[in-house]
Amino acid sequence: MELLKRKILEEGRILSDQVLNVNTFLNHGVDPSLIAEMGKTFAALFREEGVTRVVTIESSGIAIAYATAYELGVPLVYARRRKALMNEGEYYAERVPSFTKGIVTDIVISKHLLLPGDRILFIDDFIANGDAAKGLLRIVERSGAVLVGVGIAIEKAFQQGGQYLREAGCRVESLARIASLTGGNIVFADDLH
Ligand code: 5GP
Repeated sequence: MELLKRKILEEGRILSDQVLNVNTFLNHGVDPSLIAEMGKTFAALFREEGVTRVVTIESSGIAIAYATAYELGVPLVYARRRKALMNEGEYYAERVPSFTKGIVTDIVISKHLLLPGDRILFIDDFIANGDAAKGLLRIVERSGAVLVGVGIAIEKAFQQGGQYLREAGCRVESLARIASLTGGNIVFADDLH
């Protein structure tokens, strides 16, 4: 998605060889028209998949997932990061290491918001090692719903998450794929050919 790539080049800040900060338009500040375009793009990519529910993880995925769900005309549910004791019988919970925070958190989804037979589109802002996606996938499997696709705004293709999911048979669509952040340069995967 050219608009997103341009925004990344203009406003992205490289924090390390591994981490990109996009706080001006995605992770802290939010650019509504860019997010709306991303929602339209994901909706067009996945429209034929019969999606019944969009799922993301709080908090950074919510804006894009909302835009996508709105375009598809289906509900959105976002996994919460458990901060307090919850009644175990009412939630699916999975332990997920956080790539950027260096901690492990439990992500939880209420059982009545994820139903057997649901066709789930998982949307997230970044994919790095794929731990968030794998945790979410386990919850979807446990609920009896089906994961029909994964939409990622920014895939860091030099990490293994995207490749892992594709090899596991998931359809993964990324709007921008970054091949490298080394040496202070942002290199997109599709600019390498
Ligand atoms: P994973 O679980 O795939 O290793 O990491 C995915 C999650 O970590 C994303 O939901 C995102 O919140 C965060 N993340 C991973 N890499 C980056 C990055 O380079 N920049 C930012 N801002 N967040 C990232």
